Amino acid sequence: MLSFLAPVADLAAHGGETPAWAMLAYLVAGIFFILALRGLSSPATSRTGNRNSMIGMAIAVITTLVTHDIANILEIGVAILLGGIIGVTIARKIAMTAMPELVAGFHSLVGLAAVLVGWAAYLNPGAFGLLVGDSIGAVSKVEMGLGIAIGAITFSGSVIAFLKLSGKMSGSPIMLPARHVINLGTLVAIIVLTAMFAIASGPAETMPLIAAVTVLAFIIGFLLIIPIGGADMPVVVSMLNSYSGWAAAAMGFTLGNTAMIITGALVGSSGAILSYIMCRAMNRSFISVIAGGFGADDSSAGSGEAMEQRPYKQGSAADAAFMLEQAESVIIIPGYGMAVAQAQHALREMADLLEEKGVQVKYAIHPVAGRMPGHMNVLLAEASVEYDKVFELEDINSEFAQADVAFIIGANDVVNPAAKTDKSSPIYGMPVFDVDKAKQVFFIKRSMGGVGYAGVDNDVFYMDQTMMLLSDAKKMVEEIVKALD
Ligand code: NDP
Repeated sequence: MLSFLAPVADLAAHGGETPAWAMLAYLVAGIFFILALRGLSSPATSRTGNRNSMIGMAIAVITTLVTHDIANILEIGVAILLGGIIGVTIARKIAMTAMPELVAGFHSLVGLAAVLVGWAAYLNPGAFGLLVGDSIGAVSKVEMGLGIAIGAITFSGSVIAFLKLSGKMSGSPIMLPARHVINLGTLVAIIVLTAMFAIASGPAETMPLIAAVTVLAFIIGFLLIIPIGGADMPVVVSMLNSYSGWAAAAMGFTLGNTAMIITGALVGSSGAILSYIMCRAMNRSFISVIAGGFGADDSSAGSGEAMEQRPYKQGSAADAAFMLEQAESVIIIPGYGMAVAQAQHALREMADLLEEKGVQVKYAIHPVAGRMPGHMNVLLAEASVEYDKVFELEDINSEFAQADVAFIIGANDVVNPAAKTDKSSPIYGMPVFDVDKAKQVFFIKRSMGGVGYAGVDNDVFYMDQTMMLLSDAKKMVEEIVKALD
């Protein structure tokens, strides 16, 4: 016990395992987490949202420390300090473009923590208050088995997602024959083994069962993610986010910790809702995502090789500036390349200059533009672009037919008409911006050879009304700004 805080805990305790004040504190932490999620739903309030989640987490951690017998507070203090230093260092250093793989990496740690807590509870149930007589209660064993299984799936799935997103492993789908049968069989085996674990007694019977659950869950996490490639990764990231929440919630039951149950359920359900929204945005079926290997026909995920040579028009910054000035309405479509080039500030300057000249400027954001949900919104917010100029796909897509200019900066897959017309394309079915309907299209990218995430050629490059602006996005926009001045 934290001796200096013991009197507080004793005074406040109302009897029972968790004192009433602690339950209240957990509830308050939960409310802060809900406020955090609400805040995170808009870039305008996201800072307040993050602050609320930090307050909630501080309340939850302090309450847990005060109400539990802590064997070695020094070790916990050092662990929190070390974790804090590592977290702050990574958060400060990480490039926005590497955020998805960082998120996947962190999810893997949540999964691993759930597995370790589950095993600790199994090996020392007395310390977790799980003993009924001299063995672990059946309900506790079910919670333990589920927590370990979901945690292990989250761990190995997130490690594969991390390796794929960071380019350390090929992003192409790896297809096992009869993978759906193998996956389903493994999942059923995990459920059956967990049930057997719940009714078994004594270490000789239970140990092999829980060990088998752990190993199979690690394997299924791996199997679920390896067939997923190409353009489907965003859904995987938010799906693993959801899994990590459910793993934490299951562990909350094992530990009898209300804050963990609330937090886990919030992360689990918000991740599931986000996955659903992303699936809709990409026109994928949610069920097939959960089943793994969705959208991954053998033709999927392009090779990233140079495309056939077709004629295209190339222009300069001066050409673009001249035509932009003449336009009445311009729609800017930012994508991953804008993030790589960090062109958002120059872009804002360009938009300001155009607006001063009476041009109407709007921004069109695709739900999967960039490499993480909300990637473009964050960058535009960083450049102080007003939120009322930023539009979602479904709200602006019909306006391209009337727009004078579609200004594509570092986007590619999200404007590729093959998604509408080519059934063999890995992005077929994903709703895309109708840039081909605009009178004039400017397309900023570095070279004709470079492809988007899905690795496919784009007919927009070769349209009559398209002018390719081949350069680093920031450099090109800065030159346009100079020409507009
Ligand atoms: P894409 O990945 O389709 O295209 C990026 C484009 O940017 C390429 O054409 C590239 O061409 C260009 N580019 C790269 N660097 C620069 C630079 N410095 N200056 C100028 N251009 C540059 O991006 P989109 O945003 O259109 O699409 C996102 C894709 O990523 C989708 O397929 C989506 O499914 C996937 N994805 C999305 C995630 C999310 O959560 N949002 C997560 C994971 C994947 P070049 O090399 O010639 O410059």
